[in-house]
Amino acid sequence: MARILILGGTTEARELAELLAARGVTATLSLAGRTISPVAMPVPVRVGGFGGAAGLAAHLREQGIAILVDATHPYAAAMSSHAAEAAAMAGVTLLALRRPAWQPVAGDDWTEVPDAHAAIAALGEASCRVFLALGRQELLPFIEAPQHAYLIRSVDPVEPPLAVPNAGYILARGPFEAAAELALLRDERIEAIVCKNSGGSATYGKISAARALGIRVVMLRRPMLPQATEVATAGDALAWLDHAGALRGV
Ligand code: NAP
Repeated sequence: MARILILGGTTEARELAELLAARGVTATLSLAGRTISPVAMPVPVRVGGFGGAAGLAAHLREQGIAILVDATHPYAAAMSSHAAEAAAMAGVTLLALRRPAWQPVAGDDWTEVPDAHAAIAALGEASCRVFLALGRQELLPFIEAPQHAYLIRSVDPVEPPLAVPNAGYILARGPFEAAAELALLRDERIEAIVCKNSGGSATYGKISAARALGIRVVMLRRPMLPQATEVATAGDALAWLDHAGALRGV
């Protein structure tokens, strides 16, 4: 049976590990180590970087990995590019499990921007109440726009806090229900959301709530990812692995 390494950090990575475990296949899941207490995983987990594409290629060879599943977050562009390079270097099959992006629908008010600096420009000069639904590492640029009042939601505390005069913090881990998101945005009198196009249902509640409340969304565009054989769901990945013969011997 082929040895499988899943590059994770997403719900889909965990779901695929669960599906494989249910088939009696033990894959290893790799996490970047960004969250202090990650959700429990049903398979062996390794944590931390590999040391670039060359480090990952060496790991693939040492561990006798035959199939690498890149199920990282759609914004983890560096890791996806290392995965593609390392798979080529080590002669390992690569499968990318990529959650489709959300598409705007009637009633949405989205401004798509390439990065946080462009998001700040899109927010404008006039002070407004902004919900920042970004990773802890992506908040720093917003000190350039201290005129806004920020509500920041993250899994782990933002340390040190953002150096702006008006910021509130919520510690929470998704999934987030649309009704609760609507209540939050309304109660906090939010006027703009800055977020990533994560796709999937777990964090879509704020997008549908913004539509219902007429709140504008400044959406960080997805980064370019390397070409790879691609599937959209954990179930599709399992079917692909099955078809590729990776689950044979079970
Ligand atoms: P990144 O910028 O693509 O990766 C930076 C480095 O982190 C990689 O070069 C690699 O280090 C290490 N790394 C990333 N994913 C890894 C994994 N699954 N296993 C082992 N090492 C890994 O990705 P990022 O810094 O994690 O995040 C970039 C964006 O994705 C941010 O917008 C973030 O909010 C979002 N995001 C990430 C996660 C996550 O779990 N990583 C979850 C949700 C959202 P080496 O070069 O040393 O191998």
